[in-house]
Amino acid sequence: MTDTLTYDAVVVGAGAGGLFAAARLAHQGYRTLVVERLDKVGGRASTTDVDGFKVNDGAIVIECGGITQQTCEEVGAPFDIREPSPPILYRIKGKDVDVTGGGWGFLLERLTRQGAKLVNGIGAARHDDGLPEDELTTADWVRKYTSNKGVHGIFRNMCASIFAVSSEDLPARVFLTYFTRKSAFKRFGFHPEGTIGLWRGLAAAVEAKGGEVWLSTHVTRIVTDDTDAVTGVEVVRDGETVSISAPVVVSNVGPAATLSLLQREDVPEDYALTVKKADRPTAMITVNFASQQRLIEAPGMISFATSRRLAYIANFTDLCPEMAPEGWHLYVGTAVPEPSVGDFDEAAETELLMQDLRDEVPGFDDRARILSVVITRDGWPPQRAVAGFDMTHETPYAGLWNVGDAVKEYANGGTSACAETAQIVVGKVVEQFPLPREDR
Ligand SMILES: Cc1cc2nc3c(=O)[nH]c(=O)nc-3n(C[C@H](O)[C@H](O)[C@H](O)COP(=O)(O)OP(=O)(O)OC[C@H]3O[C@@H](n4cnc5c(N)ncnc54)[C@H](O)[C@@H]3O)c2cc1C
Repeated sequence: MTDTLTYDAVVVGAGAGGLFAAARLAHQGYRTLVVERLDKVGGRASTTDVDGFKVNDGAIVIECGGITQQTCEEVGAPFDIREPSPPILYRIKGKDVDVTGGGWGFLLERLTRQGAKLVNGIGAARHDDGLPEDELTTADWVRKYTSNKGVHGIFRNMCASIFAVSSEDLPARVFLTYFTRKSAFKRFGFHPEGTIGLWRGLAAAVEAKGGEVWLSTHVTRIVTDDTDAVTGVEVVRDGETVSISAPVVVSNVGPAATLSLLQREDVPEDYALTVKKADRPTAMITVNFASQQRLIEAPGMISFATSRRLAYIANFTDLCPEMAPEGWHLYVGTAVPEPSVGDFDEAAETELLMQDLRDEVPGFDDRARILSVVITRDGWPPQRAVAGFDMTHETPYAGLWNVGDAVKEYANGGTSACAETAQIVVGKVVEQFPLPREDR
């Protein structure tokens, strides 16, 4: 094996988790190789050009002021995210309401006289003994206080927007932990190149530190030895199989795919079972649309108290006109189907979303040009594991870890959760596989 094919660390996949991990590793001085099967970076948070429109493949908003921004600053990657103000409006009883700064009370008291009780319930969750037991869903928790449809709609659409799952499938404990203890996506924004812009910046940061990012290259095997330690990977590049040796492999493809790449018959039974159980991807339906007339007044996002399925609409071009050809506005409307985990009727669920768009966007039928209708599920899901049911990033193999949204920390979601997994895993790499002093 030649020197050029030996790295300190290989990252399988250039999604959010993979690139956050790679950028941190490279920044720490690890000679890092990222291998991505697609011809672009970003995975489920990437962007596709459709007739000059920058259409996001998945993630549309990036959290500001949290671990994502912190990671970019630490590794020297640009964080060119534009924040709308206000970030989100809620359409309640036909009015678009800005609740920024007003908190839960301001939002819920517009919907129900039980608002204060709900606010107290959220307040109680700030203490550990005020958190509900694991089994109670968010929808059931809300039902304890009110049957008001608008309140249920707001909670359903918050679960959908943040965790890509219905309030019937998300534990209330996860929801309340997120809103009482985590950064809770209070500030967020769009990237003017589409979300791919963020990952391009991180990939450049990897390369600036001597790392490499190989696109259009499949990892076909993660190689381990008979002491259960990782020794590298095999990849197919330009039709050739290439062996790469590395003592550390960080996998971004999810624990189930990582297991199949290991090609081992003797995986510990309890680990294999946990992987199987945790492999519960969620689903979303997205309509990307554009118009030469302005169709949405919200400068960023708008969510809904009463909708059949529509969780939010984002208006990209007020802040990021670069995302559309001149004179065009670009929007996306997104729904979580019912059920949000497991099988669902794609045609019927898509029709419910379309009906909502027609109801909520004046002129939708006449003026909107639909760029794409995308159903993300199964192998390409909005979340690879339902929040609260994630696996650990640890594996039974020395030098092998998982990162990404299948191994989130408790009560986290989306790309922020991926950044967090990368921070934790790279911390473990540094501890367990320190570089010789002269390489640091
Ligand atoms: C419709 C939708 C809307 C969303 N909205 C938001 C949002 O607004 N904000 C937010 O923060 N999050 C959002 N999310 C969630 C977010 O996109 C994901 O949580 C995140 O992108 C997952 O990243 P990851 O690193 O875990 O995995 P992935 O993005 O899946 O990355 C894995 C990568 O590995 C590659 N790969 C797989 N197998 C191999 C192999 N054998 N060899 C080489 N490469 C391989 C894949 O091609 C992929 O690029 C949304 C998701 C969807 C689908």
